[in-house]
Amino acid sequence: MNNETASIIKQNIGFLQEITAPYAAGAEHVQGGGGNTSVKDDSGNMLIKASGYLFSNISNENQGVVLVETKGVIEGIHNKISGVTDYETIVPMKGAFPDNGHSKPSMEYEFHALLGKYVLHTHSVYANVINCCSDADAMYQKALSGLNYLIIPYVTPGFPIAAHLVNYLKKNRKIPEIILLKNHGVIVHGATAAGVNSTYEDVQNRLQSTYAMEKLNELKAQECPEGFELPASSLYGTFDINTAQKELEGDVLFPDQTIFFKGKISQNKEDNTPLYLNIPEQKIEINGSRKFAEACVEMIQAVRYVNEQQKRLGLHPVWLSNNDVDILHGLSAEKHRIAILNK
Ligand SMILES: [Zn+2]
Repeated sequence: MNNETASIIKQNIGFLQEITAPYAAGAEHVQGGGGNTSVKDDSGNMLIKASGYLFSNISNENQGVVLVETKGVIEGIHNKISGVTDYETIVPMKGAFPDNGHSKPSMEYEFHALLGKYVLHTHSVYANVINCCSDADAMYQKALSGLNYLIIPYVTPGFPIAAHLVNYLKKNRKIPEIILLKNHGVIVHGATAAGVNSTYEDVQNRLQSTYAMEKLNELKAQECPEGFELPASSLYGTFDINTAQKELEGDVLFPDQTIFFKGKISQNKEDNTPLYLNIPEQKIEINGSRKFAEACVEMIQAVRYVNEQQKRLGLHPVWLSNNDVDILHGLSAEKHRIAILNK
């Protein structure tokens, strides 16, 4: 990475922090490495959160960011749509922090290029209570009346969201500043960081107050000799460890849930899965690094929150289909391509 690129990143990282840091703590807005933010400069660059990094990493100096060329990303989207290039295209990367040759932009980088100067994308639990139920459209109409928003049906995260937006722009002049993604999350974009933050917070507040959704408080895993553990009683709402396997692994509300939990949970200790549901002792044992354990706790809390709130509100959950889950796990590149073509 040359000095000029490094200095562009340094000039913009503070702007990125403005729309990232406020949403870094707990599981309310993002869980594990989920969600992403970006900022564009006037010279055609876009600084975006790096894949695998946390919102809290962006709060530190020079961490977890990638600089890409906005125009190149948009050209890539159009080439993929027209079939000129394959699904896996080369990212027009200019540089990254850390500059170790391994950094990649968030896998959702493409839709960022089509939106305003500042883009904030989260997996807000408040939005996902609604995004993952059959009544979402009517519920948003009630909570967000007077606001300009767009609801996108579930599509695989990444390029398909960008493709959906390109399609939308064929019939509409511009993309509303609030985008709600079914079974996924929310995007807010705009010309200033303060504007994006205030619109985002307005949406969260309206959803919480219209449907009396309480705040999801932060929960930490406890260190134990085997790694980390979570007493069943510490989890959000009324958690039943006997049905946890189905709740966490079987009924998939949003993509990160299955990416995280599929094949990783067992009620038998001998299976040596990263998560062990210790039913006799009523606790979940987590085997892995602190970062992994924290991400697990956030993901479990998010799933619990959505399920509890949906139950309280009498909503009908909508889960991802087996086919959507297979696509997420990359079982077939062909299925992936077909799914994109069909949406
Ligand atoms: Zn996402």
